[in-house]
Amino acid sequence: MDRKNTRIITVGGIAIGGGNPIVIQSMLNTPSGDILAGVAQTSALKEAGCRIVRLAIPDMGAIPVIAGIKSEVQIPLVADIHFDYRLALAAVEAGVDKIRINPGNIGDSDRVKKVADACRLAGVPIRIGVNAGSLEKEILAKHGHPTATGMVDSALFHIGLLERFDFENIIVSLKSSDVKMTMDAYRLASESFDYPLHLGVTEAGTERMGLIKSSIGIGSLLADGIGDTIRVTLTADPVAEIAAARDILKAVGMPGFGPVVISCPTCGRTKIDVIGLAHEVEKRLEGCKKDIKVAVMGCAVNGPGEAREADIGIAGGDGKGLLFKKGVIVSSLPEKELLEALMKNIEEL
Ligand code: SF4
Repeated sequence: MDRKNTRIITVGGIAIGGGNPIVIQSMLNTPSGDILAGVAQTSALKEAGCRIVRLAIPDMGAIPVIAGIKSEVQIPLVADIHFDYRLALAAVEAGVDKIRINPGNIGDSDRVKKVADACRLAGVPIRIGVNAGSLEKEILAKHGHPTATGMVDSALFHIGLLERFDFENIIVSLKSSDVKMTMDAYRLASESFDYPLHLGVTEAGTERMGLIKSSIGIGSLLADGIGDTIRVTLTADPVAEIAAARDILKAVGMPGFGPVVISCPTCGRTKIDVIGLAHEVEKRLEGCKKDIKVAVMGCAVNGPGEAREADIGIAGGDGKGLLFKKGVIVSSLPEKELLEALMKNIEEL
């Protein structure tokens, strides 16, 4: 897949941009000063496949959580800061790996310089996080209401504030809860500058609707080669965001995120339990790292042909079924042996 060329920005040893693999991130929702809860959730996120974790730093009471997590879990941490530049300085001092702050919101240029200098000295990048719901009033006045162009104007304004102090270690996000506006903003941004883009549809909703909105927004952009790191926002346990992110990445064909299961919708020709089999195959492949396509099809007549692009698959018949590889039938088996034969052959791939 062709990806837009962006600069490489390194966050705690993880390279973002420049065609590097898409990085999945999430954010803690544990109480901001609670070290133990923060450590536990960070471990769970890491275990699930999250590579960068953000935490809210609303006040100085949250600063010790950075060191607390770092001493227990090896994963880059991002401090999410609004308005107070002193919190940014304290987070850098505490060893955070990235700051999410909008320099236009922290006061005069002296403060911006202090944050830029501290981040430069520590090698800490800054993510500018534009949100359609909190655009600067001058930008809103110009555009009348939040728009994709207004969001990019806002990003350029914040970028300019940092560049004025020769700070270019920047990642940018442009989030809206409106999927179309989010997509338009990122597309325009990718034509306007080459800083890496952190993709996300904000306030996307509960697990089902949030996944749908994120799949459309993030997935379409990724399919166009836009985006370097993603966060799926769900009103749910953040661990659920990681599986959702991985599924979006798999669905757009990004390598490195494990098997994709292709399964037919079933019809009047179906003679085996395709629904049960497809779920079982998906469950057994959880944790499998192979970038393969696995097909579960309902009939021998159409199945192998329709799933020709699959690396391996099964197709059900009347009491019997077929095992096929790349559309070519390799064996005919009793129905009850199909699943185990498929799993064994996947192991050998
Ligand atoms: Fe029907 Fe066969 Fe197509 Fe499944 S693969 S939907 S059973 S025709």
